[in-house]
Amino acid sequence: MTWPPLREELRGIEPYGAPQLDVPVQLNVNENPYGPSSAVVADIATAVAHAATTLNRYPDREFLALRTALAAYLTPDGGGTAVAPEQVWAANGSNEIMLQLLQAFGGPGRTAVSFAPTYSMYPEYARDTSTRWVAGHRASDYSVDLDAARALIETERPSVVLLPSPNNPTGTALPQHAVSALCETVGDDGIVVVDEAYGEFRREGVPSALALLPAHRNLVVTRTMSKAFAGAGLRLGYLAADPAICDAIRVVRLPYHLSTVTQAAALAALRHAPELLGRVDDLRAERDATVTWLREQGLEVADSDANFVLFGTFADRHAVWQNLLDHGVLIRETGPDGWLRVSVGTADEMAEFRDALTHTLKELP
Ligand SMILES: *Cc1c(COP(=O)(O)O)cnc(C)c1O
Repeated sequence: MTWPPLREELRGIEPYGAPQLDVPVQLNVNENPYGPSSAVVADIATAVAHAATTLNRYPDREFLALRTALAAYLTPDGGGTAVAPEQVWAANGSNEIMLQLLQAFGGPGRTAVSFAPTYSMYPEYARDTSTRWVAGHRASDYSVDLDAARALIETERPSVVLLPSPNNPTGTALPQHAVSALCETVGDDGIVVVDEAYGEFRREGVPSALALLPAHRNLVVTRTMSKAFAGAGLRLGYLAADPAICDAIRVVRLPYHLSTVTQAAALAALRHAPELLGRVDDLRAERDATVTWLREQGLEVADSDANFVLFGTFADRHAVWQNLLDHGVLIRETGPDGWLRVSVGTADEMAEFRDALTHTLKELP
């Protein structure tokens, strides 16, 4: 017997995590490069100071004020139907949302399906909840082939289908008709989770799956304050779905999972949504310019609706990644073999990335 007496399937596994290195240009985890203004910082600090006077008490377990504010924020993307507070649930990052969804709707004897390349955390949450994990494949342009996807769902009968849109690590958004078709194929035997962590970065004319909520009671749309909202350190993710789905999650959530401090800080940040989201248009423009520039270098680049770009292909991507790091630019070695992913930073950071990559392409064979 090895020590400690871990579950068999966890033995020898390294904890997940992108390297957290202290380098000048950090373009590896899709953070928003623009921090909050001093006015936003002051408002969050005041809200947290007020919350601190009540820290002897447990937080509001149902966090109704926060759910109401999140519902109001989502409503414009709802395609003309208001999102109601009882349709919203929140947790410590949308990663905790995914875990709670799998705790409630996955589990032993049940299956979760996604289509690779997909978000690398999903199989870990499936493992942690003893949910069987099945990954189908995306087409060569990283779109989801609907016929193949439907066939896989009909064979595997998943209780959870996970669809990041825009997808991480490819940046690909799913069209609404595909989401609708997959919701219909899954039917009442399961839920379809559209992970819109990068939803706010969609290109013009690409709709959110939120507008489909009234048509499909098995649809769950997740969002986060980590990316567009410039709040990765806040740890606040949320979902919109049928109220019965939110109710079901209440059974598996830890009691008081959202601290008083988190609730206060998130509410204060939401009051400043226009400012915190103010740089999204700059980041979208910088993203489109990055796609164009990489293509001009003769590289293959996936279309992106997110705040990152997947590009390649390199015979030795690790050498390219390392060479960029030697030039002070940290990107991410992820995605299919031969590809690399760069997060979109400020104009200055992207200029440094272009310089470093130009050197790298010359220096490497
Ligand atoms: C970054 C990301 C998230 C967000 O995670 P948080 O826990 O909210 O910080 C969710 N899904 C995908 C696909 C992501 O890339």
